Amino acid sequence: VLDAELFRRWLVAAAEAVSREAKALTDLDAAIGDADHGANLDRGYAAVRARLTDGSAPAPATPGEVLVTAGRQLVATVGGASGPLLGTALRRAGRALGDAERVDGARLGEALRAATTGVREMGGAAPGDKTMVDALQPAADAYDEEFARSSSLLAAVRAAATAARRGAEATGPLRARKGRASYLGERSAGHLDPGAVSVALLVEALAAVCE
Ligand code: ADP
Ligand code: MG
Ligand code: MG
Repeated sequence: VLDAELFRRWLVAAAEAVSREAKALTDLDAAIGDADHGANLDRGYAAVRARLTDGSAPAPATPGEVLVTAGRQLVATVGGASGPLLGTALRRAGRALGDAERVDGARLGEALRAATTGVREMGGAAPGDKTMVDALQPAADAYDEEFARSSSLLAAVRAAATAARRGAEATGPLRARKGRASYLGERSAGHLDPGAVSVALLVEALAAVCE
């Protein structure tokens, strides 16, 4: 059962992972986009982290509020396609959590699904289009499947992290059909999608703080 403090720790861990991987993410975006994904997200997650930890604004009291606050912060600070999309993902997930003080495994699955649906509705991408949906959708599916099987939040979140990473790795051969990389057509194949890789970092950070 997860509380607001755990969700704060998740986003701090995500900020650390993105900061560590910023150069790698920007290099991926250099191959098929405009070489700013790592810098965009590093700025965004650093702002999220500051908002959640610096004490100058009241700390969000519930898991849902933590995610909605973080999502707003990402939208406000990340230029480019990924800010509104990831911000929507976090805000939708936060809304799905409602005002509960604690989140159980079933609720967390609903939140992951709401995040995925939000990104798909906003960006119009389906799995296979070489976007962050290629990490999000398998993560949501794997979570549900494992939670239905074992009723274990931890097992489900681990399965989601593994599926997100596999999904990101599987974007390599795909041809981009959405976002800036789609302008390259055939030439987008042969490189991982940066947004799918950053979503894998985010889901892996959640699994790590749930351990
Ligand atoms: P920009 O492309 O505006 O420079 P970023 O480089 O920060 O923005 O983010 C690029 C990432 O955004 C892509 O790798 C992809 O995963 C994601 N993305 C772009 N367009 C879409 C879309 N329509 N649906 C889902 N994800 C998208
Ligand atoms: Mg870019
Ligand atoms: Mg850009």
